[in-house]
Formats: sequence, structure tokens, C-alpha cells
Amino acid sequence: SNIPKIVILGAGYGGILTALRLQKELNYNEADVTLVNKHDYHYITTHLHMPAAGTDKAENARVSISKLIDEFKIDFVKSTVVQIRTQDKKVILEDGTLSYDYLVIGVGGEPETFGIPGMSEYAMNIRSINSVRLIREHIEYQFARYKREPHRTDYLTFVVGGAGFTGIEFVGELADRVPELCKQFDVDPQLVRIVNVEAAPSALPGFDPELVEYAMQVLTKKGVTFRIGTAIKECTPDGVIVGDGEEIRSATVIWAAGVRGNRLIDEAGFETMRGRVKVDEFLRAPSNENIYIVGDNSLILNPEGRPYPPTAQIAMQQGVTCAHNLVASIRNQPLRKFEFKNKGTVASLGKGEAIGLAFGKTYKGRVAAWLKKLIDLRYLFIIGGIPLVLRKGKFF
Ligand code: FAD
Ligand code: NAD
Repeated sequence: SNIPKIVILGAGYGGILTALRLQKELNYNEADVTLVNKHDYHYITTHLHMPAAGTDKAENARVSISKLIDEFKIDFVKSTVVQIRTQDKKVILEDGTLSYDYLVIGVGGEPETFGIPGMSEYAMNIRSINSVRLIREHIEYQFARYKREPHRTDYLTFVVGGAGFTGIEFVGELADRVPELCKQFDVDPQLVRIVNVEAAPSALPGFDPELVEYAMQVLTKKGVTFRIGTAIKECTPDGVIVGDGEEIRSATVIWAAGVRGNRLIDEAGFETMRGRVKVDEFLRAPSNENIYIVGDNSLILNPEGRPYPPTAQIAMQQGVTCAHNLVASIRNQPLRKFEFKNKGTVASLGKGEAIGLAFGKTYKGRVAAWLKKLIDLRYLFIIGGIPLVLRKGKFF
């Protein structure tokens, strides 16, 4: 048939928003839309610090894709993309091949290790449902192990690399979980150490200094030790090497020091910066008018010429514009330029505590924590309406 084929790779923030908007805007038989994702569920990446620390169930951070999309309008394929072949407009899956007229790439980024020795071998990442289950079980296992080998205090030392928003949100949750674990495993809380190591001269570099100060106070009070201005140089089976060669012995290293683009993008032959493609004003890859890139694999410069940080917020907005432009292309209508509308940033510091910057105002403590809840509920509403809010929403 000559119905255009749209293939969306990845059902993360960018991919799912593109799919949902296409299913709403396209008329019957205007295009064949296929959504490909590694798992049959969408995960709410912005919640993953909680199941990682064990303060919430992994189940609450994922939603079955069949509950989100209308399978009469969109074909869902559960598979892993192994190669993108732009020359012959094909995508190679682990178990088949798809051809496309329009491609949307939204497979998300990868942890950036900066080539630090041992990092990909010995550290864990907060990245997917599978990766956070591993972190949670690993942490619990260390408490159990310690009871058999009480001289091994490194079992009770938890190193978090990077005090960006991911590292900060995770140490907040972990500090909340520790008292419960100590009780469960009969461990003296004094022996547990959470060490957040940050290379830059400040935690949350570039964020509002007053809020950063507040966050560090709250987290320090909860038992987090900060090592600021200290770079991790190596990760080993025994812990990490920092600064000038100091060793922090630890059986648990969580690497939260940034993201880069997916290796699929580099391998496809696009020109990239740290694995990201600088897309045009309509979100298309350079010299590939039929390929859109959304989310952590795209690079967009702000008016000052600096890249916008990769967030769920920008990925969602890109999804909306991307769907609009796909429909416009099919109908030979003019495309719409993408403009990021920054609604602000709110980060959790554990139960009942958060910091935020929105509408030119700063928020902290309980008010910020409520704001964070509202943002989370709003997202559930956008992708799954009231039923999803009721099933997965946390209201207190
Ligand atoms: P992702 O959401 O990463 O999704 C990618 C999808 O592609 C996944 O479903 C994955 O299974 C699938 N996939 C990957 N590889 C393949 C493959 N080869 N084949 C098939 N499918 C594949 N941002 C905010 O704006 N606000 C926040 O509060 C916030 N909190 C965060 C908290 C944490 C703990 C973390 C880690 C990140 C947070 N972020 C937040 C950042 C945000 O989560 C990311 O920027 C966002 O998820 C990027 O969306 P994406 O669409 O690029 O891809
Ligand atoms: P990031 O890049 O924002 O922060 C990584 C941190 O690690 C930086 O502060 C960096 O200086 C530090 N670092 C780098 N190398 C290091 C080393 N060798 N040793 C010690 N520290 C090192 O990454 P992230 O925190 O994972 O965030 C990724 C994206 O997701 C960002 O855009 C962020 O805004 C977004 N995010 C947002 C929220 C939120 O809004 N609540 C939460 C999590 C993530």
C-alpha cells in the first residue's frame, strides 16, 4: 500500500508522547504507526530513585504499554532495536526488520562513564526497572552479608557518584530507607555510610545556590556525607579511587554522573556530540528529513548557545511537536518549530522534602514536595488519564 509508514523507536517520554499524539491527530488510514520498545511496559524514569532505594515498589514506576495506546491505531512491537539503517530506511530488530518512511528515535540515553576505568564493570546505574531491582536487592544483600562478616564495614558503605539531580534524589531515598534496613537486619545505624561524591565545586552545579545549600543541609542531617570537589577516578571491586588516589572502600557503587546518547545513534552514522544529534528547528536529524529524534538522544541549544539538559520535560514537549510535524508532513502542511518552554525543576530529597525552582520562584521543604507530587500526578494524567492516576498515583 502507499500509506506512509511511521516507526517510533522507544516508548520513553518522547516516544510515548509522540505515539499518543499521533493516535489522536491522525485520521483513519492516513498512516501506519508502529511503536517498538524493549519491554512491554513504559517506565517512569523520574520515579526510579525510589524503587532503587527500596522506598517504593518497582511496580509503581511502570505502566503496561497496552494500557496506554490504542492497539487498533498503533501496532506495538516488543523487541530490541539493534541497528538503524538510514540508507535503506530500515530498522533491524533482534528478531526481525521493519522498514519506514518516517522514523522517530526515542530510545533514551546511556550512562556516561567518561571512560573511567572499572565504571561499566563494577558500578550500577539508575536507569531502568531491571537496573533498579538489581540495586535494591544488592543493597539488602549487603546488610545480610554484614551480619556474617562483621569486620566488613565496606558492606555498609554506599557510594553514589555524582551529585546531579539523580544522585541527590537517590541519596535522599536511601537515607530514608537505611533506618528500616537497620531494624530489619539488626544493624547499628552508626555503621552505615552514604557517601555522595561530586567532582564539581558544588552539588547540583549551576542550580540556585540557596536551594543547593538547603538540600545539602537536609541530606546531611539525614546521614549523607558529601565529598564535593572530589572526582571519582576509578571504580574497582573494592570501591572507588577518588581525587589524588584516596580509596573509599565500598561494596556498592551507584554511578549517577550523567547521561550520553545511545550507542545506536553513533553506530547509525549520525554526527554526534557525546552521542547526541543536533536536530534542526523541526526536530529532524541533519540531512535526514524523514528522521525525528526526541529525548535524551537529541541536542538542542538554548538562546545562549548552550545545550538544554536532557529531561523528561523537554522529551515530552518534543513528542508533541514531533507528532504534529509528522502529521503536517503527511498532509503537506508547514512544519512547526520546536520551542522549549521551561516549566521549572523540582527535585525530591526523600519523604516530605524537596527543592524547586518554577515561575521564577524558589520552593523548599513540604511545599516543594507537594509540587513534586503534583508534577508526578500530572504526568500520569497526560499519558493515562484519571484511571492511571488512581492506579499508580501516590497521594501522601
Ligand atoms: P527514556 O525515558 O529513557 O526511554 C527510552 C525507552 O526506550 C525505554 O522505554 C527503553 O526501554 C527503550 N529502549 C532503549 N533501548 C532500546 C532498544 N535498543 N530497542 C528498543 N527499545 C529501547 N527529568 C525531568 O524532567 N524531571 C524529573 O523529575 C526527572 N527525574 C529523573 C529521575 C531519575 C532517577 C532519572 C534517572 C532521570 C530523571 N529525569 C527527570 C530525566 C528523564 O528521566 C530523562 O531525560 C527522560 O527519561 C528521557 O526520555 P527519553 O524519551 O529520551 O527516553
Ligand atoms: P548530571 O549530568 O546532571 O549530573 C552528573 C553530576 O556528576 C554532575 O554534577 C557532575 O559534575 C558529576 N560528575 C561527573 N563526573 C564525575 C566524577 N568523575 N566524579 C564525581 N562526580 C562526577 O546527571 P544526572 O543527575 O543523572 O541528570 C541527568 C539529567 O536528568 C539532567 O538533565 C537532569 O536535570 C535530569 N534529572 C532531573 C531531575 C529532576 O528534575 N528532579 C532528577 C534527575 C535527573
